[in-house]
Amino acid sequence: MSMTMTQKILARHAGLESVQAGQLINARLDLVMGSDVTAPIAIQEMGKYNLCSVFDPDKIVLVMDHFAPSKDIQAAKNCALCRDFAKRMGIRNFYDGGRMGIEHALLPEQGFVAPGELIIGADSHTCTYGALGAFSTGIGSTDMAAGMFCGESWFKVPAAIRVNLTGRFQKFVGGKDLILSLIGMIGVDGARYKSIEFTGSALPDISIDDRFTICNMAIEAGAKNAIFPVDEVTLTYLKNRVTRSCAPVEADPDADYVCTVDINLSTLKPVLAAPHLPSNVREAGSCAGLPIDQVVIGCCTNGHITDLRVAAEIFRGRRVAQNVRCIIIPATPEIYLQAMREGLLELFVKCGCTVSMPTCGPCNGGHVGVLADHERCVSTTNRNFVGRMGAKSSEIYLTSPAVAAASAVAGVIAVPEVRENGR
Ligand code: SF4
Repeated sequence: MSMTMTQKILARHAGLESVQAGQLINARLDLVMGSDVTAPIAIQEMGKYNLCSVFDPDKIVLVMDHFAPSKDIQAAKNCALCRDFAKRMGIRNFYDGGRMGIEHALLPEQGFVAPGELIIGADSHTCTYGALGAFSTGIGSTDMAAGMFCGESWFKVPAAIRVNLTGRFQKFVGGKDLILSLIGMIGVDGARYKSIEFTGSALPDISIDDRFTICNMAIEAGAKNAIFPVDEVTLTYLKNRVTRSCAPVEADPDADYVCTVDINLSTLKPVLAAPHLPSNVREAGSCAGLPIDQVVIGCCTNGHITDLRVAAEIFRGRRVAQNVRCIIIPATPEIYLQAMREGLLELFVKCGCTVSMPTCGPCNGGHVGVLADHERCVSTTNRNFVGRMGAKSSEIYLTSPAVAAASAVAGVIAVPEVRENGR
């Protein structure tokens, strides 16, 4: 039977020759991930049922990223619970303190994700790892508890949407513009419980960081997962990160897709998602001049080194507007260090930004930049729901690092201009 990439990975992990959309399966897990927010609930669930062991301590990763360094006493207690659990279970992949990065950037970077693998994480943006040709999806804390204990989880095999990408991005247009444009086209439930499989002649020109950004936001269209085929871009990223053998999959030429969406990257413009849904997408230029209070550049969606380079390119020789607080959040320590080596952090500080340690921070209204009533924020994060970053009356405009940086400089929503020297 012909299968999509996702279906092939699920079939292999279920020990079946083939699967079809809608089928219920039990599948073996290659990795289970949880954070300081979701793991404590899973740990308590295991306690309720006297589950005193984990299936494989080396296949569990715990990342203290959401409210860490601990923002209050409850956050500190949650981290303490996770620390104790990791110690008791022999979980060495415990990321805390200065080793901690935002999970969806940290796991691929640290080599926890390989093509063809099956990963669950108690966080909805776990779909990010499909950028490396893995099946990865978000689950709840109770499924995390069961997964940690038995190393298996159940799935309903998703049908798939194919997204055919052609053309090339223009300057200051990238993965964020692509995924926002796609969500704008199909809506926040346009891919509900489906996998989104990317294909097309544009793939060699889509960087790995852009692929992470694109897969990260697939859940904002309701997708079960998103996945890119494994190619030279993937293999270059994986070199020196993943040494275990892995088994990439390809979709069968006659695999069944619910529909195909064609997107020519050359036609994409800088876009943003206005409050309060990621599907409320429009050209960034249509909101130009709207006053803003805060800009956030970072998070698991756009805290990669290439994102910081784009922002730095726009900031160079300019300053953040007096009325704006601009917060830069490199997603991991490795990215932070690389930005330091390249002089980007110094540039950001000198032009008036605050540079944060890696953390989820303001993305979910935790800390490091929570919004007050009626404040408006331009952010490279992935959700702009009511109250997501603070007060219910605050507003979030989701966009790319380029539009965010240009807006920080202008003090109002602005579209980046290509300078004469190509910058
Ligand atoms: Fe979730 Fe935001 Fe943290 Fe990403 S940065 S894991 S979206 S809270």
